[in-house]
Amino acid sequence: MKITYSVIAPIYNEIDNLPELYRRVKEVMDSNGESWEFILVDDGSTDGSMDAILELAAKDKTVRPVIFARNFGHQVAITAGWDYARGDAVVIIDADLQDPPEVILDLAKKWKEGYEVVYAVRGEREGESWFKLWTASLFYRLIYRITDVKIPVDTGDFRLMDRRVVNVLKQMKERHRFPRGMSAWVGFKQIGVTYKRAARHAGVTKYPFKKMFRLAINAITGFSYFPLQVATFFGFFSAGVSILAIPVVAILRLAGSHFFEGQATTLISVLFLGGVQLISLGILGEYVGRLYDEAKGRPLYIVREAPEDNK
Ligand code: UDP
Ligand code: MG
Repeated sequence: MKITYSVIAPIYNEIDNLPELYRRVKEVMDSNGESWEFILVDDGSTDGSMDAILELAAKDKTVRPVIFARNFGHQVAITAGWDYARGDAVVIIDADLQDPPEVILDLAKKWKEGYEVVYAVRGEREGESWFKLWTASLFYRLIYRITDVKIPVDTGDFRLMDRRVVNVLKQMKERHRFPRGMSAWVGFKQIGVTYKRAARHAGVTKYPFKKMFRLAINAITGFSYFPLQVATFFGFFSAGVSILAIPVVAILRLAGSHFFEGQATTLISVLFLGGVQLISLGILGEYVGRLYDEAKGRPLYIVREAPEDNK
């Protein structure tokens, strides 16, 4: 059977959201009248979400479960969704109903107009702490400034992509992933649709600050050399300062000044330079560690159970 839409939802401990997610997505997609499938990727849930997904799949053939052997993370769950999707258009949606399923129809409309990537832009956001809003806003703007691809600000992973785009993305096997960056990187005809991001239907965020920070590092290292260039910049800067300082200090000493005497000055400059060097080493380490991960070539995810009819 030919499938027009694949809707992918990554699920990590979303037991209280699943029934409502299923109901609302089904209502929207059925009203659309075209064939569709619902790919629910269980990312190693421990709260019974997996059984709930399998139960839905047993009742309804549109539901296709992909069950991970453990938690691999949101980005990898989305990737598995791409791998198993069969539709001409592929939609990614959060399972917590922060992305209203009704917006899928707006995305689909733009797709029918010929756009190949239709991303949803968060106009307003409900029910989130000022800290989350502030860090998110900073994150989007920072990424926009320093990465080489222009990743639209205030967009999450909620988007619709044409089959051609998904086929390209499936070839991008990088381990530390930033899907919204990847889908901007591929090019094609892209457009944004603004929507109001709702509060979580139930449960708590699965993105504590630590995970957000990792995601930001993935985005930056995945799409730019900026941190490495900062190290170079600091190197030139310190070298420049010291070259200028040598004659100044020499002249002052010859003139009998005691201004630059003492251990404190030496200690401070040694500590400063030592710090800069260690930070640069750490940055280098981030890139080397990523290279090492790529070199190992392990599978991106392991499925315990997945639809067999295709991949
Ligand atoms: N998620 C996942 N694996 C994880 C963390 C999150 O599959 O390790 C899913 C989660 O179930 C949800 C989506 O990713 O469907 C977005 O997560 P969340 O709503 O917690 O993030 P927030 O909206 O707070 O940024
Ligand atoms: Mg959420």
